[in-house]
Amino acid sequence: MAIKLYNSLGCQIQEFQPLKDKQVGLYTCGPTVYWYAHLGNLRTYVFEDILKRVLEFNGLKVKHVMNITDVGHLTSDADQGEDKLEKGAARENKTVWEIAQFYTEAFINDLKTLNIIMPDVLVKATDTIKEQIELIRELEKKGYTYKIEDGIYFDTSKLPTYGALWPNKMELKAGARVEMSEGKKNATDFALWKFSPKDSKRQMEWDSPWGIGFPGWHTECVAMAAMHLGLPFDIHCGGIDHVLIHHTNEIAQAEASYGKIPANFWLHGEFMLIKTEQSNEADKISKSKGNIILVSDISKKGLNPLAFRYLCLTTHYRSKMNFSWEALEGANNALLSVYTKIEELQKSGLPKTLSPERQKLLEEFTADINNDLDMPKALALLHETLKSSLPPAEKYALLLEYDKIFGLGFGNIKTTIVPPEILAIAQERQQARQNKDWNKSDLLRQKIENLGWTIKDSSQGFELHKN
Ligand code: AMP
Ligand code: ZN
Repeated sequence: MAIKLYNSLGCQIQEFQPLKDKQVGLYTCGPTVYWYAHLGNLRTYVFEDILKRVLEFNGLKVKHVMNITDVGHLTSDADQGEDKLEKGAARENKTVWEIAQFYTEAFINDLKTLNIIMPDVLVKATDTIKEQIELIRELEKKGYTYKIEDGIYFDTSKLPTYGALWPNKMELKAGARVEMSEGKKNATDFALWKFSPKDSKRQMEWDSPWGIGFPGWHTECVAMAAMHLGLPFDIHCGGIDHVLIHHTNEIAQAEASYGKIPANFWLHGEFMLIKTEQSNEADKISKSKGNIILVSDISKKGLNPLAFRYLCLTTHYRSKMNFSWEALEGANNALLSVYTKIEELQKSGLPKTLSPERQKLLEEFTADINNDLDMPKALALLHETLKSSLPPAEKYALLLEYDKIFGLGFGNIKTTIVPPEILAIAQERQQARQNKDWNKSDLLRQKIENLGWTIKDSSQGFELHKN
């Protein structure tokens, strides 16, 4: 069955065909490891995971490469401000290397907690400095670079096709919103190599043909993709904010150096937004807005982290999505109710044959997921399947197939299913503990015990066990 995907290059749905028979090269922009990934970031990684699972469901072999930005991403995407990693190190009184390692490990843990399949190749920017320098030299040889006070820059006016690949999207061309580095020739020019400051030593810096410094953020992804996938490869993904700057600049470097657009398909996930007390309008989740929520916050509320994955499935990846704790609790309850039904269904074992009804539902499911990853529809089909008159064993087999895409752990339900009323009492008790209201906390513990459950406090929040 054909896979249709919305290609940001050209802004249209296109049938996906791999460049090489049944093999897909997939590159997804990874995290800048100066802090924990927030739920907005993780929405993007869940969308990319679903894409990978859909490709594999269709019998394709995916080679997935992701970068870890441990140097070079400045506090503004337009190459202004401080290096996010150096800033993180100063904040935590650690070395930059320690910060990078700590948050890389935290990121990998989050991926595991959310059942996101690990990339085949996870590359650190600091492990590919040589390749990045080679790429910049190539750009220099071809006349695309110039030097100013703070670094080597890409001259976007030398590339007539700069930004032309995104129809109607090149607002950045006007340049008015971009703060100009002193000496930069065009607003859209970007740093390829930044010099270390003359008066201080950076923790991460390397020698180069242009002087001691570090590479710009936009160079790493091109160098790594070329190294691990070869150009062009099949699909490049990231969040929607990458279209105008990061991906535009990746394309510019690949066109200028290799004469190629790096990837055939470009897929972008929309933002996750959140309303805060300060503003009535939903804002994008971001560290600078101070409205971030982490995976560990989900466990602290006694909710299953996979409920976040379930919540992501309820909105199409190209639509904005509002996060709220009520919505997450709703997703948690929905997931627990599915788990309860599966626990019952799995008692029947797996069927020996494939009935025409099951085959029909599987085809419907495949059509939904292949239609630009229509997860809301696929999720609706899950609930229809549960309500259908299909025999239990057939239902169970079908759910396991669906879960190859959903990744909600249907084949391995270990979670104790906590009824929502017990959870509500536990959360009230957690609140009482935060307010140091120990009497109330003890009373609520007793109430939970009387209902047949035990609550244990943990560093993550609390755990509930059935007596
Ligand atoms: P960063 O670590 O800032 O480079 O971001 C990692 C990924 O998360 C990128 O693909 C971003 O486009 C994406 N991203 C950042 N903020 C959000 C958000 N609020 N919702 C969805 N994706 C986001
Ligand atoms: Zn990237």
